[in-house]
Amino acid sequence: MVSFRKVTKSYGSLTVLDSLDLDVAEGEMVTIIGPSGSGKTTVLRMLMTLESINGGVIYVDGEPLTHMPKGDHLVPANSRHVRQIRSKIGMCFQQFNLFPHMTALENCMEGPVHVLGMSKKDARERAEDLLAMVGMADKRDQHPSRLSGGQQQRVAIARALAMRPKVMLFDEVTSALDPEVIGEVTNVIRKLVSEYNLTMLMVTHQMGFAKDISDRICFFYGGKIEEQGSPDQLFSNPQKERTQQFLSAVK
Ligand code: ADP
Repeated sequence: MVSFRKVTKSYGSLTVLDSLDLDVAEGEMVTIIGPSGSGKTTVLRMLMTLESINGGVIYVDGEPLTHMPKGDHLVPANSRHVRQIRSKIGMCFQQFNLFPHMTALENCMEGPVHVLGMSKKDARERAEDLLAMVGMADKRDQHPSRLSGGQQQRVAIARALAMRPKVMLFDEVTSALDPEVIGEVTNVIRKLVSEYNLTMLMVTHQMGFAKDISDRICFFYGGKIEEQGSPDQLFSNPQKERTQQFLSAVK
């Protein structure tokens, strides 16, 4: 569903991603862990086309994201192509980024009505179902400022899902939350893993959560995958010294 092929990203002389190869299969939950500055967030931002790409190709659902085929080679994609591929991806950020002047329900209806062209009635039905799924049905008419961080993040997840993405990206979605509400959000993500066949790529510092729900963990170091494997392999029996050092530091 997602493939990075020799993807390179630099800022000036700083190489952030160094010929990265990364694959996420359909329905797979992959978590990226690693030290600060190792390029984890950059991977997600590149998938959202929030960052340009210096080399290599990213494929989403079999199609190149920033390029399009022309004859037997790839040329840079036009913005319509990029928008079409990007519409398959939903993202939740550490900062929830809800529209402050809209209620929870309106936040979840905005994209389906204005981007997908759905009728208000259908968008409302979809939004209500998703808000119920994240346990926010009773708060649907509240504005974000009246909601706790955990509640806002659950609305943000419902809003992203309302666009029916094939791939969901979660970037540190629990980092800005008070400890007592982290469980509300991780439980929603657990539910997505167990009940939906979504492809998910997550960055988190919560090792216990990552271990519980991921199919695979990728340990990033210096813009590359230093080591990857099942949660059991990686957490219980890391092979590389850098992985061992990182895991013993974050325990
Ligand atoms: P991580 O998520 O693993 O902490 P990031 O992907 O956020 O790492 O960042 C990787 C590196 O790229 C860091 O050294 C960061 O300072 C640098 N970086 C990120 N965004 C920019 C930018 N817009 N300009 C310059 N450097 C950046």
